[in-house]
Amino acid sequence: MAAVNNPALAAFCSLPAPELVLAQVLLRRVATGFELRHVTDREAAQECLQNTALVELRALANHTAAGAFRPIKAAPNLRNGWRCSVASEAELESALNQLYPGAIADSFAAQQAAPPVTHYRAFTARQTGMYRITTMLTDLQAAQVIRACCDARFCLKRRLWTVDGLAPDSAKAKSSIPCLEPCAVMLEFARKAVRMEQEKGKPEVALAPVETALTHPPADPREADFSAPDNPRLLQLLQLQRLAPAAAAPVVQE
Ligand code: SF4
Repeated sequence: MAAVNNPALAAFCSLPAPELVLAQVLLRRVATGFELRHVTDREAAQECLQNTALVELRALANHTAAGAFRPIKAAPNLRNGWRCSVASEAELESALNQLYPGAIADSFAAQQAAPPVTHYRAFTARQTGMYRITTMLTDLQAAQVIRACCDARFCLKRRLWTVDGLAPDSAKAKSSIPCLEPCAVMLEFARKAVRMEQEKGKPEVALAPVETALTHPPADPREADFSAPDNPRLLQLLQLQRLAPAAAAPVVQE
């Protein structure tokens, strides 16, 4: 295997285990380098899986099995039925960067004495334009929005950033891939939540069907389409708000 002058990758490759699960990907050391496959295909015979070249992994990660775009690559809907062999640590890094962009570098950064974590308040304080209003959520409202958006049903990254009153995620509940700051989907979801509060209403979804919709979500929803009333994150937020209304400290009108 080629030596790589990359401390993040070196730390990752120095793990003693012969195999490792990273979110939904099973990595194995093999005689020729490394093999990657979906963790649900752990026991599958090689000939039952589609050989996938390193350069094809990005396309594989871009869409679900049903063809929906995956805006969050750590969403737990990576398709299965494939395997990819790589010959070196450099190729392993490239493969992981296509499946889980930045995962190795972020994992290394998260292990440092002072991880570069940007919490909700600091992150939203530097927003401009249409996202400036994301500062208007109270801590309780923001915590509900974060819990809904970053739920393990939607994202397997371990959220290290927080807002007052909300604990970070545990690796056990999600994966070892850290989330160091709110992502674009989270920011848009927070903006949508502020707009919902300002409109003093919720999306045109009656509360009664919420649990049904949560139990039987759309087969392949567009996860970042927050204009869709049956968006799973919106439904999750509505359920959290119903359990613990956050209306005591309403969002201020612009
Ligand atoms: S902000 Fe939340 S949804 Fe976005 S990548 Fe981080 S943990 Fe996942």
